[in-house]
Amino acid sequence: MTPSTPTCPSNFIRDIILDDLKTNKFQGRVHTRFPPEPNGYLHIGHAKSICLNFGLAAEFGGKTNLRFDDTNPEKEETEYVDSIMASVRWLGFDWEDRLFYASDYFQQLYDWAVQLVQTGKAYVCDLSAEQIREYRGTLTEPGKASPWRDRSVAENLDLFQRMKAGEFPDGSRTLRAKIDMASKNLNLRDPVMYRILHAEHHRTGDQWCIYPMYDFAHGQSDSIEGITHSICTLEFEDHRPLYDWYVEALGIYHPQQIEFDRLNLTYTLLSKRKLLRLVQEGHVRGWDDPRMPTLAGIRRRGYTPEAIRNFCNAIGVSKTNGILELGLLEHHVREDLNRRAPRVMAVVRPLRVVIDNYPEGQVEEMEAVNNPEDSSMGTRRVPFSRVLYVEQEDFREDPPKDYFRLAPGREVRLRYAYFVTCTGVVKDERGQVVELHCTYDPATRGGNAPDRRKVKSTIHWVSAAHAIDAEVRLYDTLFTRPDPNQTEEGQEFTANLNRNSLEVLTNCKLEASLAGAAVESRYQFERLGYFCVDPDSVAGKLVFNRTAALRDTWAKIEQRARPAGPDARKPT
Ligand code: ATP
Ligand code: MG
Repeated sequence: MTPSTPTCPSNFIRDIILDDLKTNKFQGRVHTRFPPEPNGYLHIGHAKSICLNFGLAAEFGGKTNLRFDDTNPEKEETEYVDSIMASVRWLGFDWEDRLFYASDYFQQLYDWAVQLVQTGKAYVCDLSAEQIREYRGTLTEPGKASPWRDRSVAENLDLFQRMKAGEFPDGSRTLRAKIDMASKNLNLRDPVMYRILHAEHHRTGDQWCIYPMYDFAHGQSDSIEGITHSICTLEFEDHRPLYDWYVEALGIYHPQQIEFDRLNLTYTLLSKRKLLRLVQEGHVRGWDDPRMPTLAGIRRRGYTPEAIRNFCNAIGVSKTNGILELGLLEHHVREDLNRRAPRVMAVVRPLRVVIDNYPEGQVEEMEAVNNPEDSSMGTRRVPFSRVLYVEQEDFREDPPKDYFRLAPGREVRLRYAYFVTCTGVVKDERGQVVELHCTYDPATRGGNAPDRRKVKSTIHWVSAAHAIDAEVRLYDTLFTRPDPNQTEEGQEFTANLNRNSLEVLTNCKLEASLAGAAVESRYQFERLGYFCVDPDSVAGKLVFNRTAALRDTWAKIEQRARPAGPDARKPT
């Protein structure tokens, strides 16, 4: 089952599949896989790969496997396996009964390695990792053959078997494919197939002390699972000849590897290794910190799976890596939330307002629209009374020229309620405005004056007696530079961290209808942005994350770019 997404514009991978269907290359099958290594949480870049793999298979009535590429026991953990599954499900995709682990294939991979030894296509090498690197040569110089390259099949079989039996220490020997030390492609210069590593594996425990390298595991895993199109990112393009070499040398079913461009976003790091450092060094509160580009973080921030799928669909795929504007992702989030998020009134930096001529103790229920984009979402009643809160920034004692909100003597509309005029200002001993006094015009109930007089501004408010308290967390980008990897000499990417990426407001006042709002529910706070209930919320104290502010800079950029057409892609 795959959720509906807008029809995907064609792309070169889709064209390859269409062609293969025409020529019956895979007997009409389309079978893809998403192959994460469980060494961290998934990020928005992985979402691109997930949407592509699941989306293409679904379009052609095919299947997609979830396969954990767990060949590196030192960095892999069950926590990551669980979080990856949760994120793929949350995005809306289902691998049904096709959950696999590369570690399920360890025995088969070992048997295949033995087969390559027997056919003279693999040998045990005693060079150290460093020596192997030295012998490999460079892009301009051919490599040098290992002195162990011509061991007999019998000796290789014996040594490989003893490597498996645990007779040798870590790093003392490897099994290597015997291909071509002069190949232009460095990956074909006798690549390592197996290394010795006495490490506890998250699934196979201490059963193995030799582990296959990614290249020796990946293509064969695809082959075992009958994958037709093995879609991966561009950095594996140079590995494809090796992928092909292994399946050909073994004489097994041969899937087609296809590479596409990695997703990169401005102000964002998409490397699990660096994201792990942010977590370990405490720069963020965890993998699911709402500032993180992880799917867990983005979810906590309030992004919807629909918005992410729409984004992934819109950006398409290509053969050149680039950097997309973060604003494009936010644009899709706003577009989706605009459609579905109920509107409420919330005051995040409250300023007390007393309406002097409003009867003490009186409460009126004002009718408010839940979503102007969707009348089926109906209306609600919002209590209005003599003492209200408005936003501090909606009052200026000395208003600049184009400022039309509250000011001494100024009349404005209170959303869904009355016109009010500011008649007085109360200050504390430091001169800070702490309270406003206003009068209201009872004839303007609902927001219009019978004498047709106009006001230039409408502001939101919350009744003080009915308000519920909340904490609101405002977020900015985690990094200050569009490319967080760009640093001054001697600095690390952490030097680009934005010290103001989180602002916590603890004295926020929300309209009463928000009492009991469920974790993860999303709202538009009128005039402020989209907000989502954080799991830190407890009874009587809601915590909200700002998902996105309302202003959609992207829409403006897009408008300016027309009619040339919106193209967010920027060559790197
Ligand atoms: P990272 O560099 O963040 O550690 P990775 O490529 O090592 O990522 P894997 O777990 O191996 O992470 O990735 C699983 C799949 O997701 C692979 O097919 C990989 O190509 C794809 N993928 C990873 N990062 C991106 C990205 N930024 N854009 C698109 N696809 C990605
Ligand atoms: Mg990887």
